[in-house]
Amino acid sequence: MTGKLLIVNSYHPNARYVPMGSFGICDYLEQRGHQAKIFNGALYPPNEQVGRLEQEIRSFQPGAIGLIMQWKEYTDSAIRLSRDLKKLFPQLSIIAGGMTAGYFAQTLLRRYPSIDGVIRGDAEEPLHLLLGGHDWPAIPNLLFSSGDDLQAGEGVYRTDCATLEGMSFAGLDQMIDSQRYLEAIEPVLGFPVFIGRGCIHNCQCCGGSHKAFTEHSGRQRPVFRSTTAVLRDLKRLAGRTGTIYIGFENSPRYLEKLFRLVADDPELSGALALNYGAWGLPGRRLLELYSRAFRFGGRPRPILEISPETAIDIHRPLVRDPALYFSNQQLRDTLDSTREIFGSDLRVELYYSRYHHTHESRDVLEEELAGIHDLHDHLQRRGYDNMVLTNYHLATDVGSHNWDRLMDADGTDGLDTLLRGLGRMGFPAPGRPPMDNLCLYAPPSLDRQTLETHDRLVSWLELLRKQRPSCYFIAARLLGFTTLVDCVRSVIEKRRQSGWGEEVTLVGLSHLLRGLALEVEDEVHRVPAAHQTLVRDLAQLHAGHLDTLAGPPAPEDGGLTTRPLIEEQKLLVTGWDLAAEGFLQRLEQEDHLPPAEPTLNIYCGRRIVSFPRRMEPGFRLFDGSRTVAQVLQEAGADGTLDAAELRDLLIFITRHHATFTC
Ligand code: SF4
Repeated sequence: MTGKLLIVNSYHPNARYVPMGSFGICDYLEQRGHQAKIFNGALYPPNEQVGRLEQEIRSFQPGAIGLIMQWKEYTDSAIRLSRDLKKLFPQLSIIAGGMTAGYFAQTLLRRYPSIDGVIRGDAEEPLHLLLGGHDWPAIPNLLFSSGDDLQAGEGVYRTDCATLEGMSFAGLDQMIDSQRYLEAIEPVLGFPVFIGRGCIHNCQCCGGSHKAFTEHSGRQRPVFRSTTAVLRDLKRLAGRTGTIYIGFENSPRYLEKLFRLVADDPELSGALALNYGAWGLPGRRLLELYSRAFRFGGRPRPILEISPETAIDIHRPLVRDPALYFSNQQLRDTLDSTREIFGSDLRVELYYSRYHHTHESRDVLEEELAGIHDLHDHLQRRGYDNMVLTNYHLATDVGSHNWDRLMDADGTDGLDTLLRGLGRMGFPAPGRPPMDNLCLYAPPSLDRQTLETHDRLVSWLELLRKQRPSCYFIAARLLGFTTLVDCVRSVIEKRRQSGWGEEVTLVGLSHLLRGLALEVEDEVHRVPAAHQTLVRDLAQLHAGHLDTLAGPPAPEDGGLTTRPLIEEQKLLVTGWDLAAEGFLQRLEQEDHLPPAEPTLNIYCGRRIVSFPRRMEPGFRLFDGSRTVAQVLQEAGADGTLDAAELRDLLIFITRHHATFTC
């Protein structure tokens, strides 16, 4: 007896992926005479999801729905969808599967009658038996409601290597609207290549770790496919997509072999762009094979993901599996290697996260943050503009060690905690930076205020780095990252006491910089006097500039026929030529502060124009009594300003709103 299965993925606002095993399940079932398709609700607007699915069910007439509950982020939408479907098709069996379903199997079945059964662990053979009409008590891995109780199907099924070998995970047409799927995922990471299932490692945060797999799927050991089977899938995929993703690295030697085979295969070599999620630190040989086997040179650049997670060396083996350990120095050496091998054709994404159980105190958090910024600075100095560093909220994966830490305080299986967390996503507390992940766990030693302050600190420093890079880099060079972090945190705390609750915006940034200008003079930070003055000037200069960014439209004649007055708020005298190109290089090369020369700075639109203060009298000639054109005719008569230089300057500042017309 054969049947039909519709695998259904629910809607998610930020993700379009389905687990890669879904394609394998379809293939497994089809080889045994069933029909199977994937409906990916995440591809459609939320209000279209149920209508489209209803239509699909009416035309395909499946015998059962395989409801995907793999990633925790989909839990609430999958439950909602099961209820909607049950109302429409009360006779249709809805069987949930995936890591999250496996973990919460009992609670889901007890609480949501719309879910008829849950498959815990591998689903290929249980689904085959179910579609074949076997009685549910005879189906391994299946848990289902029976009267008022739950009943487990007999036996345990684990997919083995031989079974995986005979399956394909590249049957794109098994998904309805597969082209739409490819268009949605290609700009993200591309089509994930299935190599195996499970992991030998135990990173503390991971819901796909050895420990987590044991709990949600009963899997003790990973299973792999041979490189031959994977090559077969790659050839199938090459006909449909140009971008793939690999994130399975139980054995780096396996990957080396796979990459070598791809490099030596005339049909595959250079045919695909690979985004590669490294589990550890990729070795040089693997990187060289990566460069030979896959396509580079196009845009967007292929991505190599590396996850140090923490900037503190001794914490890395506590946060990630110790077997994956690498030091900060080894990381820097690897980044140098990637630059040598790929130039800027590879985008390297480095992931740091918070909160880990090692983040026991504010000091540790700030040491971490200073280390992350120090690496940023290192990359910037080397000109590695293809490397991106992200400091994100760490998601609390169901079944991970961090999940257990969270549950220690919870006392339940945590489904309510998860659903509450999902409900809060996208709704940050007023004035608080948004969570960029479902981060439910933080060490109990960090109180709410410390967490809020730290989240703000991360966001403000990031905004400063992006919006005012010269200010950020000079301040960091002069103060050191530890002191910069300390000063900015003090500003946030003091301003909170005075009721400051601004959003992390450019307007807020100018207030923050004014606070920083005062803060560096506080003796608790022990900033040398000369550096205090320099950082104060620098912070004030950039704060003033931010305040003036919104200006009136440029005069139609370019300002030449007006009699302009200089806007005094758009002028600032500083002790140094802080806005000059090359200030950082001079600071570095000369290893001491550049000689002080009082400088007049003018805020012109998005730029700051600076020149020596001694030239101010000549510059003031132009202030108010004559038109710009008249001044230009006489320019340089008193010898304080070079005529050509003055001309450029006057035209520039009048066109960029540093003046108003009298
Ligand atoms: S994060 Fe760690 S535990 Fe999780 S899959 Fe990667 S290597 Fe395995």
